[in-house]
This record gives sequence, structure tokens and C-alpha cells, in this order.
Amino acid sequence: QDARIRRALISVTDKTGVVDFARELVEAHGVEIVSTGGTARVLIEAGIPVVPIEEFTGFPEMMDGRVKTLHPKVHGGLLARRDLPAHMEQVREHEIGLIDLVAVNLYEFERTVADPTTSFADAIEHIDIGGPSMLRSAAKNADAVTVVVDPADYTRVLAEMAKYAGATQLATRRQLQAKVYARTAAYDAAIASYLAEQLEQADASAATTASCCTGIGTEHAACSVDSASASAAVAAPAADSSLDAAAWAAAPAAELTLSLTMQQELRYGENPHQTAAFYRLPGASAHSLASAHQIQGKELSYNNLLDTDAAWALVREFNEPACVVLKHQNPCGSAVAPDITTAYDRAFACDPKSAFGGIIACNREVPLELVEHFADVNKQFVEVLIAPSYTPEALERLKRRQNLRVLATGGVDTPTEMEFRSVDGGMLVQTVDRVDEDVANFSVPTKRQPTDSELADLLFAWRVCKGVKSNAILIAKDQAGVGMGPGQPNRVDSALLACTRAEDTCERMGVEASGFVCASDAFFPFRDNVDVLAEHDVTAIIQPGGSKRDDECIAACDEHGIAMVFTGVRHFRH
Ligand code: 5GP
Repeated sequence: QDARIRRALISVTDKTGVVDFARELVEAHGVEIVSTGGTARVLIEAGIPVVPIEEFTGFPEMMDGRVKTLHPKVHGGLLARRDLPAHMEQVREHEIGLIDLVAVNLYEFERTVADPTTSFADAIEHIDIGGPSMLRSAAKNADAVTVVVDPADYTRVLAEMAKYAGATQLATRRQLQAKVYARTAAYDAAIASYLAEQLEQADASAATTASCCTGIGTEHAACSVDSASASAAVAAPAADSSLDAAAWAAAPAAELTLSLTMQQELRYGENPHQTAAFYRLPGASAHSLASAHQIQGKELSYNNLLDTDAAWALVREFNEPACVVLKHQNPCGSAVAPDITTAYDRAFACDPKSAFGGIIACNREVPLELVEHFADVNKQFVEVLIAPSYTPEALERLKRRQNLRVLATGGVDTPTEMEFRSVDGGMLVQTVDRVDEDVANFSVPTKRQPTDSELADLLFAWRVCKGVKSNAILIAKDQAGVGMGPGQPNRVDSALLACTRAEDTCERMGVEASGFVCASDAFFPFRDNVDVLAEHDVTAIIQPGGSKRDDECIAACDEHGIAMVFTGVRHFRH
């Protein structure tokens, strides 16, 4: 079919890259842009001609934006089969304008409900209705319509249009089609799991209070729902089309049906004599590794994927700008900073030797400056760079490193909630390990309390430590992971290794080897760990606690004047 793009409908909440995308559609390909309220405003301000959606449908946006694009002129324009004369006849009869491209991303439901202060009513307002509807209509008709749900795909679509006289290729439209249903499935799964959680909370508060409907809006709304149907929803076994981690965790299904989609055939596995492929899980989160777009570079290998996954999993734990340099499953560099380039510089400085051939993961858009720092200043050889997005200047500069694999996730969200690992003849399934404990539940059993700056470093170290293989010890200083002791079969060796690395780092940087804090992924079985750490100028420790010999460790800390925090939660990573 003729898939030349003449008219595009653009309606996006995440406006990243949308102006450049629309401008090139108009200027290079003469595309007519139809757009909704906020998006139209942004485009018009940038001087791009836009047909407002009201004009296109002949109907106003109404009900606070609840109804903007839900109109037969939109859905007819998307769904009409260009190859069926009867459809085209109806298009003419009802004066429907065909829409050849849809760029839509959705109201940020996931981000909204991740904020604990969000009310139930506000969460409901963040359920996008028109957006998923358009995505689904466009994707159903991918034979003729190009649908872009991920801003990271704008450049790809434009490149193809430039090559094929303003059209896209069917193979590309098919890939974009698959991406849409994965995204809308993940979106609906997030809504379902939020609502199930609300019902659970309402059930719990109903059980503990005689009158449950006295609380804030959330509880009130949820209480009105019959609790029997709530538990049925939560206990429903994971279906084959999508994985509901909350439902599975509440009642692990005796039989778990997984339908996996082949994402990529890999040249080989961990070693050249092993066959391998990369599959996508149902319910993969929108900004997961499986959903990421490779902008450039050599084909991803099995080991690249494993390590990039570990790096991305770790860096997405942070809200502030964070960078991780990872090698062989362990973060040899990690830092947070007010801006992402500084975070990279500080992460690299943790261990430049190990950083060679590593993965760089950033949780913010990568600017040109960051690329210049690793490519020109540090001359770091990098296997994979992963980030939500890149500025156009950064992308231009990255082109000079043709082989470097550059991945854009399009954003940062919480990880896909279920985790699978194979054992000989079987599979282990668990919910994913996240560091989102409430600091209010932490305790300090030592005589000395951590200072504010120690506490900030302890909380940083605690997050990074989760990404280090057990037995994991991480030494941090000034919000950077300066010493790592991963994977030793006894904890005291991990501690020794971490301390030595931390001292090396300080020596290389010409700063005093002091002011270290330490995180341990699990409790100390003996006080020898504390003694080693004290010898190497560690002044504060964070660890789960819960050992039979906690008392000895606390006494050791008190002897050395160390402040120790117990989290009550451990983060093994075997
Ligand atoms: P804008 O910023 O352009 O006003 O709104 C863009 C957002 O509106 C997009 O995220 C899109 O998915 C969403 N959207 C588009 N049409 C509709 C609709 O008819 N109803 C609702 N609730 N959302 C819509």
C-alpha cells in the first residue's frame, strides 16, 4: 500500500523532540499537522503550521480535555482501509480526512501514581482515554498508518521518509505496531495494578477500623467497591497476554503461561559456541531495556544486554541525575550530581581502569558535553550507552563513534515487575527487588548517630550496593561509589577489596582517604567486618542488621566511634 505520509496527528504529553519532528514533517515532506490543545500550542509557538483538532473534527475539545480526539473523523481517518473501495467511498461520503501518521504518548499515569501524595481523583484524571484509542486504531491499520508511541522513534521515521519519498516501510510500521500494543498493555496493567492496590488498602483499613469511610478521597472511593470482587481481581492468575506481578505475588499461579516475542536473534550467547536470542516479556515496562530503541552502533551481544540491563536497573533507581559505569554485572563507577555530565565525570573517576569497555547508563538526557567528556577527555572505550534520550548535538557527535551502541529508552519508569532466571530444567520467578524502603523505619543501634552528610552518603551507598553482586560491600564518599567489593564468598574479603579500591581512588584523585561510608547488602556475621572497615577510615555503615552477633558488631562500632544504620531489609544479588 501507499504509505506516503500526507497528514499527521500529533498529541503528546511528553513533548521531547516533538517540535523538531513536526518541523521536518512539514518542511521536508509537506505534511499537514493536526494537533490537540497543548501540543498545538507548542508547535504554533515554534512557528509550525497546525490544524487544530477542533477544526479537523468540527467539534470542540470538551470536558476538561476528556474528549478531544474521540471522534469518527479521527478514528475513521485512522482505521479506513485504503485498499477497500467501500471504505474509501465512506471516507468521501462523510468527508473524513485520512490520517497517515499518529504520534501520541500518554498522560503520565505511572509517574503520577508513583507520587504517594497523589489523590485517587487525580490518578483517575491521569488515565488517558483518547491517546490509547488513537494508538490502537492507528496500530490496527499499520498496513497504511505509521504510529509513533515513543519519541525515540522520531528520528527513525524521519530517516525512512527521507529515503523513501515521504513514506515508511511496512517492516518498520509492523515494529511500531507491536510497540504500541506493548505500551498500551503496560499502561492498562499499571492502571489495573494501581486500582487493585487501592482496593487492598481499603480492605486493610476496613479490617482495622469500624468505619472506613472517614479518610481521604482515595479510601472513600475505593471503599465503595465490593471487596469480594477486589480480591478476585488481585488473585487472578497471570494471563498469557500480560503479566500482573501484583496478582502473581498475592497468589503465585500454579501454572504460569508465558508468551514471549522474539526481539532479536543474537549472534551468539555468552561465548561464541552458544546459540542465543533476546525475547520480550508480556508486560515489559515502557522504558525497559526490551522497549529501548537502538539509535546506532554494532549489534548488541548477549553480554551487552546482560550488562546494560544491570546498569539501567541501577540508574533508574535514582530520582536525581545519576550515572553508572558498569562492567561484568558490577557498577565500578556510580555517582549522583546536580547535572548528568558531572554525575558521569564523578562515576568515571571512581575507577577509570575498570571503566574501559564498560557500559554507561544515565537517567537523564545526554548532552553533547557528556559525550565529549567520555569520548575526547577520558577517551573511554564504551560498549553501550543507555539513557532516556540525547540532545541532537550529542547524537551528531556520537556518530563519530560508529560502533558505539547507543540506546534510548524514551524515559525512566519503574522496572518490569517480574524477574525470571533459568536453572537446569527449570525457571525461577520472583518479583523484582527495588530499594524503596521507608527511611523512617531505619534504626541506629550505635551510640553515635550519623551526621547529615554521612546519612546522605549512606542512603546513596545503600542504593548502589543493591546493584553489586553479593557479598556486596560498597564504599561511598561525597555521593560517589569510590570502592566496590563484589561477589566474594565471604563478606570480610568484599570489605577488604572495597576499602583498597576506595583508597586507590583517593590516591589517584589526590584527595585524602577519609570520610568513607559503607553499605553492606546483608548483615555482618562477625565483628571482623567492622574492624576492617574501621581500619580503613570508614565512619558510618548501613546494613540490614538481624545477625545473631549484631551486639558484637554494635559494640565494635561503638569502640571505633562508627555510626551504624540498620535497614531491616536486605538486597542479595546472587
Ligand atoms: P495536549 O497537551 O496536546 O493538550 O494533550 C496531549 C495528550 O492528550 C496526549 O497524551 C494524548 O494521549 C491525550 N489525548 C488525546 N486525545 C484525547 C482524548 O480524547 N481524551 C483524553 N482523555 N486524552 C486525549
